[in-house]
Amino acid sequence: MTMSLDTLEARDLDAVFHPTTNLKAHREAGPMVVDRGKGIYVYDSHGREYIEGLAGLWCTALGYGVEELVEAAREQMSRMAYTHLFGGKSHEPAIRLAETLKAMSPIDTGKVFFGNSGSDANDTQIKLIRYYNNALGRPRKKKIISRNRAYHGVTMGAGSLTGLSVNHTHFDLPIDGVLHTACPHFYREALPDETEESFATRLAGELEALIEREDPDTIAAFIAEPVMGAGGVVVPPATYFEKIQAVLRRHDVLFIDDEVICGFGRTGAWFGAQTYGMQADTMSLAKGLSSGYLPISAVMVPEWMFEASVEPSARIGAFGHGFTYSGHPVACAVALKNIELMRAWDILGHVGRVSQVFQSRLACFADHPLVGETRGVGLIGAIELVADKQTRKPFEPVGKVGGRCAALCQSEGLIVRNLGDSIAFCPPLVIQQDEIDEMFARFERALDKLSDDLMRS
Ligand code: PLP
Repeated sequence: MTMSLDTLEARDLDAVFHPTTNLKAHREAGPMVVDRGKGIYVYDSHGREYIEGLAGLWCTALGYGVEELVEAAREQMSRMAYTHLFGGKSHEPAIRLAETLKAMSPIDTGKVFFGNSGSDANDTQIKLIRYYNNALGRPRKKKIISRNRAYHGVTMGAGSLTGLSVNHTHFDLPIDGVLHTACPHFYREALPDETEESFATRLAGELEALIEREDPDTIAAFIAEPVMGAGGVVVPPATYFEKIQAVLRRHDVLFIDDEVICGFGRTGAWFGAQTYGMQADTMSLAKGLSSGYLPISAVMVPEWMFEASVEPSARIGAFGHGFTYSGHPVACAVALKNIELMRAWDILGHVGRVSQVFQSRLACFADHPLVGETRGVGLIGAIELVADKQTRKPFEPVGKVGGRCAALCQSEGLIVRNLGDSIAFCPPLVIQQDEIDEMFARFERALDKLSDDLMRS
């Protein structure tokens, strides 16, 4: 049978292999074709309006249709559309962006290594750590500890750091040398008599036991997102990072801070590290760095780590890692303009003000019979749906009710993402108070419909 290809939906089904998608369900339901955007709103190919409650994939910080970003790209494209950083070549947008990021960085950054995605930034982290320990003559110190439910990307290395089975199963991941420790989700993982502090103490103890069991001479680094994003928007319990950091210091284990979601204002400070008092050694940045207008990532590298790479690179012939589009000039120009606009629009002041409304609207859902927990910080949050509020019993199978809820939100004109049965909110940072009210009003209508549906079934 030949399928008629007269709609975008049909043509999508015919030609596009979708990333991170249930391919069978997609074949039945078809795509939502997004056509244009303005501010916090996007419009589908039939002209229907939606609030983009997840800022695309946690990235469109300044919202849609920002002409200054378009103009920055146009200008750079017409001046120098492409040049690179290999073999000592350079260009002004990369130099200026590296300087800007160094000046903003909460860690002592010596050099900035550019890439194109959060995944490649975290792969670069793995390779930098291997290079560094080889340079220091510590060939055994290579393992990296991540956390269950972490999300650090999907390439072979970064996908291994990710702690979600959907990203491992059938791909034969994780690769050797990546370990996972406990997820710091107080609501789900704490024991009945634990406080946030005693929970954090236990998790730090478990991390230390893992390091000692494996032998500290084999553990190179620990990686963490300040707030875990795709794992369910997990906010760290009180004292968590301070206790984890003490363990890392005791065993000479480097700390990689994955700021791919939290960086550039999401938690109310420039970086999640500042919100949570994290003292990391290196950082990965992407997403909000360009508000998603062009793909770009950056690894913030301390000077001592860079220095350790200099001699080996001469011996070997090159620091043999980098991408064709590392420091793409157009992406750098857009990122520079994005940061300039964030400052000019006082995005941190704005997030400070509207996040109070956002967080209190989110918290109001805690009383709803279907809601087990609400959690969040700044302009990121989640609402976890449960089958039984008292016992915290999840729905089965996990994700079915969450998926239904996200679909109902979509029919109410709100795009959110279900992470299992947690509904994630992460709107563009430019969202205004009345738009936050409208976003949660649409969510409330969807939740009421979900309650009715569940009651009937
Ligand atoms: N790190 C974190 C914390 C992320 O949330 C993501 C993507 O969502 C990544 C890394 C991977 O980024 P990318 O999809 O650009 O490869």
